[in-house]
Amino acid sequence: MKIIMLGAPGAGKGTQAKMIAETYKLPHVSTGDIFRANIKNNTELGKEAKTYMDKGELVPDELTVRILLDRVAQDDCKNGYVLDGFPRTIPQAEVLDSELDKLGEKVDFAIDVEVPDENIVRRMSGRRACLKCGATYHIVHIPPKKEGICDACGSELVQRDDDKEETVKNRLSVYHQQTQPLIDFYDNKGVLKTVDGTKDSAEVFEDIKRILG
Ligand code: ADP
Ligand code: AMP
Repeated sequence: MKIIMLGAPGAGKGTQAKMIAETYKLPHVSTGDIFRANIKNNTELGKEAKTYMDKGELVPDELTVRILLDRVAQDDCKNGYVLDGFPRTIPQAEVLDSELDKLGEKVDFAIDVEVPDENIVRRMSGRRACLKCGATYHIVHIPPKKEGICDACGSELVQRDDDKEETVKNRLSVYHQQTQPLIDFYDNKGVLKTVDGTKDSAEVFEDIKRILG
């Protein structure tokens, strides 16, 4: 099963993708996590990606597509995956489509997690992330058991550099311009499913399970 998570930054894509991955035994593939791991390890890829991420802009398609295709070519992705944060532009979606086409495969579900812009800034300012395993928390809505420590792997939680209010506003505007058109793109392919992302995260996941079966 190949699943794509759509939605604004902070809509809860990562939170839901993790739950889907666990329940359906699929790898969770997040381009943002891959970039952040590269930044942490000070790689050339990380240095280049950071210049865009810090401004709330998208990393260029060419670079992003390359790392994504490398990742999904790995063995654990053979039976499917949950893509979180990719595609973010129409050209990215087209490359994914044509690569899948070559294999006689396709995207099965594009799940759009809908959350109005007003809620997003609040969510992002409370977001805390684990850079080691990619788990995400919220200081009020989804707190870790021990403050500042990841439940899943025990590492220290951090506030992401790009979760500052000004950067979040730019990311939202980039989302509306470049990513939102993907909703129509996947609707036209008949695989779009929409969930109300303002509900409690467990309820959102129940809605997603009903869709995936
Ligand atoms: P995205 O991957 O779409 O950028 P995240 O999954 O990281 O979003 O969620 C953004 C923030 O909102 C995080 O702090 C997360 O814990 C919190 N969050 C996720 N889902 C919900 C929800 N349904 N209700 C309230 N807060 C949520
Ligand atoms: P995320 O963790 O999904 O919120 O992504 C964080 C940042 O990484 C984004 O604001 C972009 O700068 C960059 N990024 C992640 N995925 C992509 C993508 N598919 N295309 C371009 N940039 C991306």
